[in-house]
Order: sequence, then C-alpha cells, then structure tokens
Amino acid sequence: MTKQFQLKSKGWGEKMALEEPTNMEELVYFTNRFLDNDGQVMCWVERNECPKCHKAKMGKPLDPKTGKSKIRAKEYVCPECGHVIEKKEYEETLTASAKYTCPKCGKAGEGQVPFKRKKVKGADSIIFTCQHCGEKIYVTKKMKKLKE
Ligand SMILES: [Zn+2]
Ligand SMILES: [Zn+2]
Repeated sequence: MTKQFQLKSKGWGEKMALEEPTNMEELVYFTNRFLDNDGQVMCWVERNECPKCHKAKMGKPLDPKTGKSKIRAKEYVCPECGHVIEKKEYEETLTASAKYTCPKCGKAGEGQVPFKRKKVKGADSIIFTCQHCGEKIYVTKKMKKLKE
C-alpha cells in the first residue's frame, strides 16, 4: 500500500487479531473512512479460494489480449480449474473485515461481518458494531451522503 492509514487511537496493537491487508491484489474491496468525533474505519474484503477445487483464489477473468484482469467483469473465475461464479453471488460469500476507532466511545476495535450491504438512510452500507459500546459503524458506498 502506498498510503499509510494511521489510526489515532492508542492501544492499537498486539491484542488485535485481524491482520491488515498488505496486498491490494488480494482484495475485492478496500476503503478508509473518517467518522464523526475523530472516529475512523478501515474496511476490506479479501478474495477467498475457489469453492470447487480449493487450489486458488478466485479472481477477475484475464483479458487474453493484455493479460491483465478485467476489472469490470461481472464474474469471478478460478485460475486453476476455470470455475465461474457470478460477481454478486461470489461477493455475498465473502467476509468484510474492519478496524476502527469508534466515533462514540473513542476506543479501537475490530470486527468481521458478511460482505452484504444493507440500505441505511438511503445508502448501501456494511454495518459493524463497536465491540465496546455497541455503536453502529456504517461503511457506506463512496460518494453517498447519508440522508438526515
Ligand atoms: Zn477452482
Ligand atoms: Zn464504541
């Protein structure tokens, strides 16, 4: 990663179990958000392995001309066995991970939820719950403001 995401909260460290992603190629989704009251959340979704052969991680199909993956493809393909899964169906089997500084209690925490967006105040959101105070932490789709 080129941009370093620094969480302001102290006490971030060994007791955190989630490993932060190091390789963007392995990710389906990655975002950093700033929340109210100096809260922050980093959310990412890792690709998982082929449910059929379990030999490789599913990826976007490669363009035969350029050899690069087709970012806008509507499906994921296993590079080992060629198994194809429709994008939406595949992504719903994935897990979203987050590390956050809670906007309410200010403590650092982490969590994992299914990678499914729910409508919250008109915006599709992945919803995490602060492990300390129960505050809901919303990761909305980019460029969408929450309706009051
Ligand atoms: Zn496979
Ligand atoms: Zn909290």
